[in-house]
Amino acid sequence: MDNIAFIGLGNMGGPMALNLVNKGFKVSAFDLSAEALAKLAAAGARPAASALDAVHGAGVVISMLPAGKHVDALYCGEHGLFGKLPAGTLVIDCSTIAASDARRVANAAKAVGLRMLDAPVSGGTAGAAAGTLTFIVGGEEADLEQARPLLEAMGKNIFHAGGNGAGQTAKICNNMMLGILMAGTAEALALGVKNGLDPKVLSDIMSKSSGRNWAVELYNPWPGVMENAPASRAYSGGFMSELMLKDLGLAEATALDSHAATPMGSLARNLYETHVADGKGKLDFSSILQYFTAE
Ligand code: NAD
Repeated sequence: MDNIAFIGLGNMGGPMALNLVNKGFKVSAFDLSAEALAKLAAAGARPAASALDAVHGAGVVISMLPAGKHVDALYCGEHGLFGKLPAGTLVIDCSTIAASDARRVANAAKAVGLRMLDAPVSGGTAGAAAGTLTFIVGGEEADLEQARPLLEAMGKNIFHAGGNGAGQTAKICNNMMLGILMAGTAEALALGVKNGLDPKVLSDIMSKSSGRNWAVELYNPWPGVMENAPASRAYSGGFMSELMLKDLGLAEATALDSHAATPMGSLARNLYETHVADGKGKLDFSSILQYFTAE
């Protein structure tokens, strides 16, 4: 199997790269954070001194970065990797970025003889740690088939959404729905608790009733209801509110471009905008509950 370069070892990339190492793949890892890099090195990855060092001798490059501008800088920027990677290298970007950015980066890759997949993920940090992520892939079928063993080492469900950018479009539709569901779940729980209900009892009821959804059942926003949810560890270590805001912005931009009506998505984006402006950007996105419980 090819050597793999893994760039971006944050809340998601760290455990994803760890799964590759644990399943026997040879991984060269790089992150701007020395702490994140040290964790991977301790697990058996080769700690690289730079992104360029990481890709040395790699047949596959995987990136998991915060946003489009980071992906653009890594690959296409002044010191970008495109132009330095040997022709035929397979590049898999798992970051969530705009579909239009993903298509532009993929075209830049093709122009220098590289192959590129957009492969954003769903399943959160728990899914990344457990190796049960859902990969939503855009690009050529043949490239996906080559990537499949790697994706299977990090995830459970792998979907081919279409050509380059299609993975990002599908991901953004999912996350717009997730932002709406989380805000709605928090609003309903806050209403119940304000009217004397126990949040755990109310969550149990909703989990077995028609309001059932992923947020109430598996990622409950009320502290203490679910032991392993970010809400029970002061909203740390999950999916940051500022990243949810980014995704809702991408959904809104996509809606504007395609003249689609997304009023619920716009309202959710507005709520997260307020929440982030309130200094909550680094907290997990389930902390939107605090918007509804503030006195
Ligand atoms: P994060 O901020 O925890 O991690 C990003 C990492 O990238 C950081 O460690 C940072 O140091 C590193 N980085 C930034 N620029 C770099 C560069 N030029 N070279 C090397 N490293 C660099 O973010 P995350 O939660 O891991 O999210 C990553 C992506 O995954 C985002 O696009 C996000 O929207 C998406 N995502 C996150 C979740 C989640 O639950 N956290 C779920 C699905 C998708």
